[in-house]
Amino acid sequence: MAIQSLNPATGKIERTFEPHGAADIENMLKQGEKAYQNWRKTNFTHRAELMRFCEGELSGNTEKYAQIITMEMGKPIQEALAEVKKCATVCEYYAAHAETFLADKQIKTGATRSYIAYEPLGIVLAVMPWNFPFWQVFRFAAPAIMAGNVGILKHASNVPQCALAIEEIFLKAGFPKGVFQTVLVESDAVDTLIKDDRVKAVTLTGSEGAGAHVASVAGKEIKKTVLELGGSDAFIVLQDANLELAAETAVRSRMINTGQSCIAAKRFIVEKTVAEEFVQKMKTKMEALKTGELTSEDTQYGPLARKDLAETLADQVKRSVDAGAKIVLDGGHKDKETAFFQPMILNNVKPGMPAFDEELFGPVAAIITVNDEEEAILLANNSRFGLGGSIWTQDHLKGQKLARQMESGAVFINALVASHPEMPFGGIKKSGYGRELSYIGIREFVNQKTIWLA
Ligand code: NAP
Repeated sequence: MAIQSLNPATGKIERTFEPHGAADIENMLKQGEKAYQNWRKTNFTHRAELMRFCEGELSGNTEKYAQIITMEMGKPIQEALAEVKKCATVCEYYAAHAETFLADKQIKTGATRSYIAYEPLGIVLAVMPWNFPFWQVFRFAAPAIMAGNVGILKHASNVPQCALAIEEIFLKAGFPKGVFQTVLVESDAVDTLIKDDRVKAVTLTGSEGAGAHVASVAGKEIKKTVLELGGSDAFIVLQDANLELAAETAVRSRMINTGQSCIAAKRFIVEKTVAEEFVQKMKTKMEALKTGELTSEDTQYGPLARKDLAETLADQVKRSVDAGAKIVLDGGHKDKETAFFQPMILNNVKPGMPAFDEELFGPVAAIITVNDEEEAILLANNSRFGLGGSIWTQDHLKGQKLARQMESGAVFINALVASHPEMPFGGIKKSGYGRELSYIGIREFVNQKTIWLA
């Protein structure tokens, strides 16, 4: 089947690509292996210089790349511009720090000298999603390549132009052919790639099902995986919270990327004494959001990336309402012929409803009212996922105490959950394992080798 670039705002097929065949894939693997044998021997100064050219290419052409993102997956232009800029930041971050992060670590033992050396592994396969089609890729590629690995990207089938643009960025920056390659294939070709001896490790960002499948194939091949999967993060609002700021951040968090973000707050767990006021504030702010031309600077949300995603979300909402959730802000998939989904707020959400148990990947906020902070933590942790929760309270000690009780890869107190190059990013439970970013992320795809001199 051909791979399509379809504009979700217009429904127009912009471009069609023939998937790469077996011979193309074999060439890429050969090219990747050849490039690796040279790239692994390069020094950090050289790698950093090229990574900074990458940063320059992104920074100098933000508009051009943002437009590809917006056209292909429906993100408003302001968000696409921010995404491209963030990619530039991560290139600079690892250009500046990779050498320090991967310097030999001396360890005191009985040996004359003993230390850990961090060595690259080879070709890393990256299976990536469409929601942040540039950021997810650079978040993997910048550290992996700085560590001396090479990458093959299998991007989501609905963002082929983004995938090809990223390959071009690395080539323009001067990276040798084969250091970063894009393979245009659908997901059924991934197993063959994982099983190839030249592929040494796999990273996947995407849904739980895709992660489980890829990890099982890689596991059988004894290959390292990092999985960045879905989330249904809790946003806990305690009665002493700054409600105005909490509500404003709640809406921002839920509406990032038109609700299609793994770390978007999805379950809003609010102490009952402030629930009514908080929900009212959230409703007012959500109603005020503007949609429109995606290329307009004022547009705050757009369509979902595909029509089927709007259908799935509408079904989750319907099943939640059938089970007793109350619609506070009405919206939804009004025009069934399009991928547009108007923002919604559901109140009275409880465990057992899809809005509580499943990931709602779109602009629907689920409100859960609780008696106290203990119940809030209990419900926050009553989830198969654990990615990035947040807690809103003016009591900083209490906030940190509760943060330690939350089952998630990150907890932000009085702040929007977001990824920062300096801090590790990743989940627990069904949100995945392994970490990206920070010094920890760059050590995922390296051989942490013990060297011992008697
Ligand atoms: P998806 O359907 O799982 O797709 C992600 C990638 O996996 C795509 O490249 C897809 O290829 C591929 N894929 C799907 N099934 C596969 C299989 N059985 N074997 C091999 N590859 C497979 O996810 P999505 O809809 O693009 O993204 C949304 C999900 O990603 C949400 O759950 C979201 O929370 C999660 N996510 C997590 C993070 C994080 O950092 N934790 C970040 C962003 C998104 P095709 O497109 O060809 O099917």
